[in-house]
Amino acid sequence: MDVTAYAVASATSPFAKTVIERREPGPGDVLIEISHCGICHSDIHTARDEWGGTRFPIVPGHEIVGTVREVGSDVTRHRIGDRVGVGCLVESCRTCDYCLKGEEQFCRRRVGTYSGVGKDGRPTAGGYSTHIVVDEAFVVGVPEGISSAEAAPLLCAGITVYSPLRHWGAGPGKRVAIVGMGGLGHMAVKIASALGADVTVLSQTLSKQADGRSFGARDFRATSDPATFGELRRSFDLILNTVSVAFDVDAYLSLLDVDGALINVGAPSEPVSLKISSLFNGRRTFAASPIGGLPETQEMLDFCAAHGLGAQVEVISADQIDAAYDRVVASDVRYRFVIDAATMG
Ligand code: NAP
Ligand code: ZN
Ligand code: ZN
Repeated sequence: MDVTAYAVASATSPFAKTVIERREPGPGDVLIEISHCGICHSDIHTARDEWGGTRFPIVPGHEIVGTVREVGSDVTRHRIGDRVGVGCLVESCRTCDYCLKGEEQFCRRRVGTYSGVGKDGRPTAGGYSTHIVVDEAFVVGVPEGISSAEAAPLLCAGITVYSPLRHWGAGPGKRVAIVGMGGLGHMAVKIASALGADVTVLSQTLSKQADGRSFGARDFRATSDPATFGELRRSFDLILNTVSVAFDVDAYLSLLDVDGALINVGAPSEPVSLKISSLFNGRRTFAASPIGGLPETQEMLDFCAAHGLGAQVEVISADQIDAAYDRVVASDVRYRFVIDAATMG
């Protein structure tokens, strides 16, 4: 079937309206009419070919919320009319240890919502589009209590921070710092606070301090202030870095107490370096974490609904995607741009 989408033809092209072909829904598929799609910084890294290897033209978008319009004959999990979400994955092998554990993000044969190859052998195309066809196993239910625009960013930003916060035990008694308060960072502040952790934001300036505190942070510091790193030395058990560019790893490691962990979810295209002594001193860990599996994505959505947590969003029309990209890169996002798919028609 032909559907409307927004694509870029090259790393330097603006977004343009186009028509793409989606497969007809098979027995296990659902056809979703998209209402909202968030703009993740990974969409920008990909559309601008900052990681290398982008295959153009590309339709980005992996923070998708919409309504089920058709279901295949074998579909049992979703019904026509359900409000549902799709994140970064649309397929995996389903038989490896990770798939069986619901950790599809580690499957060697996982397929991305865009930049992958779908069941039909064609390149997958993301959510900057009016409709998408996805196997029911990669579709989650969006609980009541969160608007669709505020739920869409949870499908990537939400799960990408929820998964490491849970894995590394953010909760009561844990001193957690969130570095960078953009799309991922602001959800990390909300989720870590709701988990009961003592949360500090480390942002370039103090301009977002009031927002950070309203999201649940107890403290908010500017990384541009040289005094910050001295004052906060050995102050945290866990640091979650969401910054989209390379950063001074040693400086952040120095903020960890003994056995503390610095977890990177930001995905800069440039390499970073560190001194091994920064790890020795305090038996510290430096690790990274990718998105999350389908069961944990559903758990995160239910957690957010139970705690009244949605993303803080600015809803835009499809003709504003290029301008939104420039604002995200300039750290001028409060705190996620979400495309209203009704403006694509
Ligand atoms: P974002 O909204 O642009 O947020 C990034 C934040 O980093 C900015 O708001 C800013 O926070 C800080 N920052 C930006 N430029 C900076 C600079 N030059 N120096 C210092 N700080 C800077 O991006 P996002 O959508 O949250 O994504 C963040 C990163 O995570 C991206 O690299 C993205 O590709 C990656 N990501 C990874 C996964 C995964 O699976 N691990 C999933 C999704 C996204 P302040 O203004 O508060 O300093
Ligand atoms: Zn993303
Ligand atoms: Zn697998």
